[in-house]
Order: sequence, then structure tokens, then C-alpha cells
Amino acid sequence: MQFTRRKFIRLTSNGIILPLMGPIHPFTGSEKHGEIILTEEALHIHQEALVLDGHNDMPGNILDKGLNSKPGFSLNEHQSRLQTDIPRLRQGGVDAQVWVAYVAPEHMRTGGGHKAAIEQMKLIHQLVNTHSGDLELATTAGEITSIADRGKIAALVGVEGGHAIENSLKNLERYYKLGARYMTLTHNETTDWADASYDRPRHGGLAKFGEKVVRSMNDMGMLVDLSHASDDTVRDVVRVSKAPVIASHSSVKAICPSQRNLTDELIKAIAGTGGMVMVNFFPLFLVPEGGAIEQAYIDHSLALRSKNLTPEQFRAEMDAWMKQQPPMPQCFVGHLVDHIDHMVKLVGCEHVGLGSDYDGITYGPIQMPDVSGFPYVTQELLNRGYSTGDIKKILGGNFLRVLTEAEA
Ligand SMILES: [Zn+2]
Repeated sequence: MQFTRRKFIRLTSNGIILPLMGPIHPFTGSEKHGEIILTEEALHIHQEALVLDGHNDMPGNILDKGLNSKPGFSLNEHQSRLQTDIPRLRQGGVDAQVWVAYVAPEHMRTGGGHKAAIEQMKLIHQLVNTHSGDLELATTAGEITSIADRGKIAALVGVEGGHAIENSLKNLERYYKLGARYMTLTHNETTDWADASYDRPRHGGLAKFGEKVVRSMNDMGMLVDLSHASDDTVRDVVRVSKAPVIASHSSVKAICPSQRNLTDELIKAIAGTGGMVMVNFFPLFLVPEGGAIEQAYIDHSLALRSKNLTPEQFRAEMDAWMKQQPPMPQCFVGHLVDHIDHMVKLVGCEHVGLGSDYDGITYGPIQMPDVSGFPYVTQELLNRGYSTGDIKKILGGNFLRVLTEAEA
């Protein structure tokens, strides 16, 4: 029971799925996995590679916790209430990080979604400016490479939740101008123009205006991100998009039947656009048991939503319910790499990447609690016989290719 965390865990309100959960199991799933040991060889490959993580929720987490208004707040210091800071990004060998402006679905009812997106994008810019010795804003694949070559971490901007545009293509343009290079079309709730995986379908996928949004994103060179989208939305976007599409933080449904994981059919469809799927590191989306826990959560939250509760009442009811739920599953790095392996066998290593979701998840796999853990993925890929070239593609090379194609 060495890995069991006995305390109850509050999940952050951004990016997030489960407000509160019980203790975490030691680990579940295949007995073949265990802790792994980092070798010089893997560390060398990791250091040489351009390591890019496709999804991190730190900006919303900083705002939720009011960290940036605390005097002396600095990402140069260890931030115990975050999974991300510069020392740990350095330890993790991260060369490029996409930070998302996450817009909660509640804004569809309360308004203020556009304002929330702008506020977070401004925070990303501000953080880059105040940590300019380590961070620099990147808006093209070329900039990512040159920033990493100069020993800095390239900071990219994404927008999570298409409702952030408040049904205005003008807002989409504003986000592009503020550096956003992908937008996740939905979060947990269906928007006015796209169905979400956790919600009841309203459009059978993408509505007409949704098609317009996708075409506008294509024209601008902003990647369409399909994480959280319903299966029909993914199919519609693949049909409509003229550029490669991505899933910035999604795992494999054939291994873990989470609603927001991707079926083999959809992984193939995304790869077929020249795009890629970036694996999510949350154990709940990695081990088979996660699917049932998540489904119970979705069912209960949908039932509560129809009761017209205030956000505070909703959270209190969910918290009370969560305390009665079974423990959250834990897993090893090997379970995470099983998802990469599955996709590589299905579509080839050119269409797979990393989308950790740190600071949008409450915990990562054993040995990977935060952004310092990326070298373990390299180690496990090496242990499984992946070539250096293929490892480099998965760690970041593929995203550079996809972004370059979208720019064109
Ligand atoms: Zn998300």
C-alpha cells in the first residue's frame, strides 16, 4: 500500500472533471508494470530531443487560487499548490509548453466567457514577460525551435472551450492575435455549435456555425483541438477541416473506456488528416477502472444540472456525493506508455504526442506527479525498443510538423 494517498483530494475547478474524490488506489491494471529507473542513455535522448507538452492548465489554476496576487509570486520558485513551475519544467526537460486559457462551461449560462479567455491569455503574456530569462512566447513552429535552441522554454497559447468566442468569429481572430494556436472546441458541455463528449448531443456533432468556426481556424492557421468533443463532432470536424487536426489531451478508449477518450476509429480519422493525438496523463483516463468512475460522475452531474442549482450548491452536492465514491485509480508510467504504444501500432509514431493536462488533473502516474516527470516517458519508450528518432517524434517533433502544416 506504499503508494496509497489516504487524504481526500480536491480537483481544481479548471480543466476538470471531478471536484472531489476518495483515496487513490496503490495502482490498478496490469501487474507487468512497476517503477522504472532512469538511465544515462534515456536522459541523453531526452536532453537532445525537443520536448513539447500540448496541454497545461496552469493559468486558470493560478487565477483560481489567487496566486498571482500574492506578493513575490514567481514561477522561478517551487509552487507547492501547482504542478508546474520553471524549476520543475527544467527538471522535466520541457522545451515547449502549451498553456491554455480555460473557459469553464458555466460561462455559457452566466456570460463572461470571452472576458475569462482574455484574462487568462493576458496572464500567460504577463508570466512570459516576468520570467523572460526562461520563457518566451512562440507562435510558429520556427519560433519554438529557435527559442528552444537558445535554451529557453517556448510558451504557446491555446484556448480551451469554444464557447469562449461567444459565437463571434471576431473573438476567434482576437485570440489568434493574442497568440492562440489551437482552440479546443468544447469542454464538458455541449456548446451552441458543437456537441461535447460528457453532455447530451444537441447538434448530432457540429452545427452549421461550427463548420464556419473550423474553416475560419483553418484559414488563420489555428489548429482545431478535438479533446472533449463528442464522437460525432470529431467525425464532422475531420470531414470539414482542410488542415490537420489534433486532440491535445486525450487517451485511448480501447484501453480505458472514458467518455472523453478516443476510439480506434477516431484516432485513425485524426491521423488521416495528418494530425495527432496527444496522450493525457491522468490515471483516471489511463486504467480500465477509470471509465466506470467517470461515468457515474457524468450521470450524477447531468442529473444535478437539471435541478437549476447555483454553482455553489452544485459544487456542494457534488462534493457530498464524491465522498461516497470508490477510491481513484493510480497507475505506473507503463500504463501511460501503453496508450502511446496502442496508437503507434494503430496509426504509426508520426501521429502521437504528449498532452499531460498538468494543473488540470489532481495527480499523475507514480513517478510523474508534475511536469518534472517527462523523462520517465522517454525511459519507458526506450525500454520498449523505440528508436531515438521515433522517441523524438513523439516527444515534440510531430507537433512541430502538424503546426507547420497548419501554418501553410
Ligand atoms: Zn481539458
